[in-house]
Amino acid sequence: MVTSPSIPAATKGRVLIIGATGFIGKFVAEASLRTAHPTYLLLRPPPLVPSKEAIVKTFQEKGAIVIHGVINDKDFVEKILKEYEIDIVISAIGAKSLLDQLVLVEAMKSVKTIKRFLASEFGHDVDRADPVEPGLTMYKEKRLVRRMVEQSGVPYTNVCCNSIASWPYYDNCHPSQLPPPLDQLQIYGHGNVKAFFVDGIDIGKFTMKVIDDVRTVNKNVHFRPSSNCYSINELASLWEMKIGRTIPRVTVTEDDLLAVAAENCIPRSIVASFTHDIFIKGCQVNFKIDGVDDVEISSLYPDEGFRSLEDCYEEFARMIDDKIHKGEHKITGTKPVVEAVPITASCG
Ligand code: NDP
Repeated sequence: MVTSPSIPAATKGRVLIIGATGFIGKFVAEASLRTAHPTYLLLRPPPLVPSKEAIVKTFQEKGAIVIHGVINDKDFVEKILKEYEIDIVISAIGAKSLLDQLVLVEAMKSVKTIKRFLASEFGHDVDRADPVEPGLTMYKEKRLVRRMVEQSGVPYTNVCCNSIASWPYYDNCHPSQLPPPLDQLQIYGHGNVKAFFVDGIDIGKFTMKVIDDVRTVNKNVHFRPSSNCYSINELASLWEMKIGRTIPRVTVTEDDLLAVAAENCIPRSIVASFTHDIFIKGCQVNFKIDGVDDVEISSLYPDEGFRSLEDCYEEFARMIDDKIHKGEHKITGTKPVVEAVPITASCG
């Protein structure tokens, strides 16, 4: 079912985005519309929660065409790929539905017209990273999708954008929606293992650059902006500098992270297993990008800058200042100043 009136003329590749109401998908949809790609959003049938409805309305006002349906219906997907002459499919589907992409891949293989597919990756190179469970199960699913895409013959690009620019809370899936802490800074292990932090807007922007770049066909594109490479000790110092005071640091050991992962409380334990992989094992920095299948984004677009982490933290500090001035928060105390994003937990 199509709920927007007109179909834009295809001056650029027609992009179908799956998961545009999600955390990563929003950045991608915004970038697709900003770069004037005819943008189609495949959404699950209504009702949507009001906050997501508002997001979709904003996208429609900017020209997005909404299609309602599910990706694990092969006939339906084939039909819309043909009907809207889709060139590029970008999936930012959530972790719980990764395997639904297998049917999507079958449909793309059948229509034979898709010029590029970006699966729901947007994190680590899942063939190299090796987190403990329950993160490993998610990576096994992403690996399975990769293998299926490779076999399908549909041209693909895997976006390995590493961490989102934020404080890397070990128990929250979407940490960029929270400022760094004010009560205590949790340092993982010795705190000196580095990682890359990329702003969501840049994830969207560079994703749209790779989709029709011939240099990225059938490659893993790694986001490693040298300006945004920090250890957690360095992140702590950056935050302290931005707010103009020091904060007590506490160590979260490797065993602590493994214990949270072992609780198998979803999604918190998945995040803990990734935190362990990033800040204890160094999964973002422990390999060189020199394989034929890999390319680093800055080498592709050397003149395009990334938003700096300094800038992101500056914005978080301003946000905190505003709240303090409005009397919404105190700067001292034992509780986090901002409540954690509610996450639906299920523990196995
Ligand atoms: P979210 O859970 O925020 O959003 C998932 C989106 O997928 C929603 O739009 C949801 O729609 C849609 N969706 C889920 N199942 C289906 C389905 N069967 N058919 C159609 N649409 C569906 O996901 P995230 O943004 O957190 O995750 C997306 C990807 O990004 C994942 O691969 C994840 O691993 C990665 N990621 C990377 C991060 C990083 O720091 N690098 C951080 C977070 C995620 P609906 O609105 O109907 O629920």
